[in-house]
Amino acid sequence: MENVLQAAKDLAASRHAVALTGAGISVESGIPPFRGKGGLWEKIDPMEYAHIEALRRNPEAVWRVLIQDMKTTLDTARPNDGHTGLAQLEKMGILKTIITQNVDGLHQLAGSRHTIEFHGSFAWMRCMNCSNRIETRYLDISVIPPRCACGGIWRPECVFFGEEIPPRCLIDSKHAAMSCDVMLVVGTSAEVQPAAYMPVIAKNRGATIIEINPEKTALTRSVSDYIIRGKAGEVMNGILSALNQIRSSAPVDG
Ligand code: NAD
Ligand code: ZN
Repeated sequence: MENVLQAAKDLAASRHAVALTGAGISVESGIPPFRGKGGLWEKIDPMEYAHIEALRRNPEAVWRVLIQDMKTTLDTARPNDGHTGLAQLEKMGILKTIITQNVDGLHQLAGSRHTIEFHGSFAWMRCMNCSNRIETRYLDISVIPPRCACGGIWRPECVFFGEEIPPRCLIDSKHAAMSCDVMLVVGTSAEVQPAAYMPVIAKNRGATIIEINPEKTALTRSVSDYIIRGKAGEVMNGILSALNQIRSSAPVDG
């Protein structure tokens, strides 16, 4: 894989690398993405269930179709080589920030410290009535929709379509995109705005944009410098071993 070596070289030469990740990086952890092969949206209409109006109008349906399965899957999901590879890049001092569109918390579980959760987090639920909070893994879902003691319905602290990106996340992400010289774009179809705009900001500032995805995306050719077609975990393993070789053969200063 020619581009794997190129990516290792680009990362080795970078001063400030940043990653933008999407649902695809968690596919090898058993979490289905929205779009693409095997995606949730082959089965459901996103606007019917993943929109804030749907949650307000019919929370029971959104719980049954979307949230219930997600809780069951995420309660036991573990990071894969894609997540641990990025955590490793951070430990090596190469990767400074991960902007993730994922709500599964797997980057943090893999040991990444500088992670921006652009679309919020599934780790906590908030009462739609009194704003009380509970950790998702402790929530009893034997009755759907689950309710807070006040009678209000619990919802995940994720950003639904039609909701605003938390302003702090947007500011921090734009800052990361403007500061980087290499951006790894891993497992995202780049169709959800404004997240998909972050590589464009980075590109306009002269950064090298490297995509890791088995399929072409909205960014391929127009924004990315090159794409490594493959699964996130396998590709990250390849990049890390190439990087280690580059580092061990590099002349030592002094
Ligand atoms: P998406 O579902 O739109 O696209 C997934 C992308 O991942 C596709 O381009 C696909 O080709 C690629 N992919 C599939 N398998 C892969 C693999 N093994 N390695 C690398 N890439 C792979 O995802 P998106 O762009 O993140 O946008 C969907 C939105 O849905 C996000 O905003 C996110 O909030 C939410 N979501 C999150 C999760 C999660 O937290 N794990 C899961 C589903 C959806
Ligand atoms: Zn309540």
